[in-house]
Formats: sequence, structure tokens, C-alpha cells
Amino acid sequence: MEEPELVPLRSTSLTPGLKPIPPRENRFPPPKRRYSVTADILSYRRCKRQYGFFSRRGYVSAQSGQLFFGTVIHQTLDKAHAHFRGEIEGTHPGSIPTENDINGYFEKAAGALEAQGVHRMSNESRDKALAYVQEFNRSFGPEVYPRIIDTEHRLQKDKGTYILHGIVDVVAAPEGASGWDGYEIWDYKGAKRPKRTDDGDRDMKNYEFQMRVYAHLYELRNGVRPKRAILWFLGERRREHQQHAVDLSDTSITTAVGAFEETVEAIESSIRSDDWSSISVANAPSIETCNACDLRWNCSAREGKYDLKSRVL
Ligand code: SF4
Repeated sequence: MEEPELVPLRSTSLTPGLKPIPPRENRFPPPKRRYSVTADILSYRRCKRQYGFFSRRGYVSAQSGQLFFGTVIHQTLDKAHAHFRGEIEGTHPGSIPTENDINGYFEKAAGALEAQGVHRMSNESRDKALAYVQEFNRSFGPEVYPRIIDTEHRLQKDKGTYILHGIVDVVAAPEGASGWDGYEIWDYKGAKRPKRTDDGDRDMKNYEFQMRVYAHLYELRNGVRPKRAILWFLGERRREHQQHAVDLSDTSITTAVGAFEETVEAIESSIRSDDWSSISVANAPSIETCNACDLRWNCSAREGKYDLKSRVL
């Protein structure tokens, strides 16, 4: 049979008198970058080099046990709060989770993190994380749970060229408070209070900075500043050491807002030059952070401290 002649679907030559259609201009602005208060701003301020390698270049840390530790604590506490509100099947509003309940929530949270590929922590760390939550539930649960207004309170602000966002662990009402201006914001830290050393002071300043940025975002979202901002160190046994109230004066908030804007500019500049190379000794984070960092074997800020040793077989 004779093959039919193939006709092009569209003619590629222009009809005389018609001009070619100019390519359409892309009128959409580039998407705005999103910056998380903790995962970006705080991480960069803690160590620019570590942030660049793991958050920007996408290397996977072999030691994500710290991430596991903090996340499993937060997720278990979140379940404890939901239990008290009666939001979990089989629970009643107002009931305090038992030790077994907490064990169950902890195991589920740990299992989910492992399934997501987050490196599991050592058994010792696992026991420690569970002990922190059990202790909090036992000692503070009955007093604290009824005061909780919201958990995982999401805050976000479009800053023009970028979007800043963060999540406050808890919004709580002290006795008699009935509105956003009377509430407190809390952030749980799965750690002891930083020591009074240069390293410890730097860590505490960063935590305080985080809470002031949250207070600023809270004010933008709710129209008023929170009454107090509390850092809650679950690793402390004594009640008076567990809670640390952060100064929320106008001056301290203005300084924090200025500092985070500078930090965003510094991050943008580092991204443009893709420069995460060196960090000075003066800018190194606490020694605990470096001890858990995969880059410590080759870091100018800790030169000589982590020498690789050859092994004779
Ligand atoms: S060893 Fe310390 S200073 Fe060096 S990249 Fe890691 S955290 Fe940063």
C-alpha cells in the first residue's frame, strides 16, 4: 500500500507580513527564601561552616543523634499535651499521662524518626531523653498542662525579600491571664542550663536571641507582645534552675531584630559566594557543639584539637 504523505502539523515559515511573536517575559518574581529561626538563623549564628555544609550543601551528618534527642523529646511532650486535652483516642480531657503512656508516645516518636532515616541515638542517650520527659510529666504535668493554650504555635512574617518563620513550643496562660498580652511563650531545651563560661554564655545568648525573635513574631501575629518568654531546661533537676525568663524589653527586642536582619544578610552573602570555608577561633561555637561535629577533624577554629591518629595494624 502506498504510504500517505506526512504533513507538518504547524508551518515553521512565517506568513508574509506577520512578525514573529517575541518570547514571553517571565513576569514572576523569584520565590522568596524561607528562613527558620532555629534551623537557619540560630544554626548560622552558632557555626556558619557547619550550617553551610549540612544545611546548604546538603551533606548528611553522621552524628545526627543530637537532632534525634531534641526532636524525640519535643514530639513526646507534644503528645503528652494532646493527651491532657483528650485529643488522643481513648484519653479524656484533663487526664495526666501515666508513665506507660509516656513510654508509648516516646517509642512511637522514636520509631517514626528512625523510619525517616534520622540517625538513632545511643541507648544511653535514649534513656536520658525518656527520663527527661518522664520527670517533666511527673513533676510539672499536673501544674503545667492545664495552663497550656497552644502548642507548636506557628509564627511567620513576610519580610519583603524573604519569609521568616518559627514554631514556639508552648503558649501558656499564667493564673488569671485571659488574652494574648497575658500569655507566656515557652521553649523546651533537652539539655542542662548552659554553664557560666564563655562557651555557655554564648549558648545562652543565642537561646535568648531566639526567644526575642519569637516574641517579635508573636507580636506581629497576635498584635501584642507575650507577657514573658521562658526557656525550660529539662536536663536540670532543681525547679529554680529549670526555668529561665528572658528579658523582653523594647531595647532587647530591637537589638535582636537588628541582629537577625544582619544574620539574614550574612547568610545571603555566604550563599551567593558559596563560601563556608573558614571560621575563626573567636567565632567557634561551644566545645560541646564541636565535639559532635563531623567537620572537626579539618577545622581551622579547632586546629590541633582533633588530630587524626594513624593506626598501626
Ligand atoms: S568543628 Fe566546631 S567550629 Fe568547626 S565546623 Fe564544626 S562546629 Fe563549626
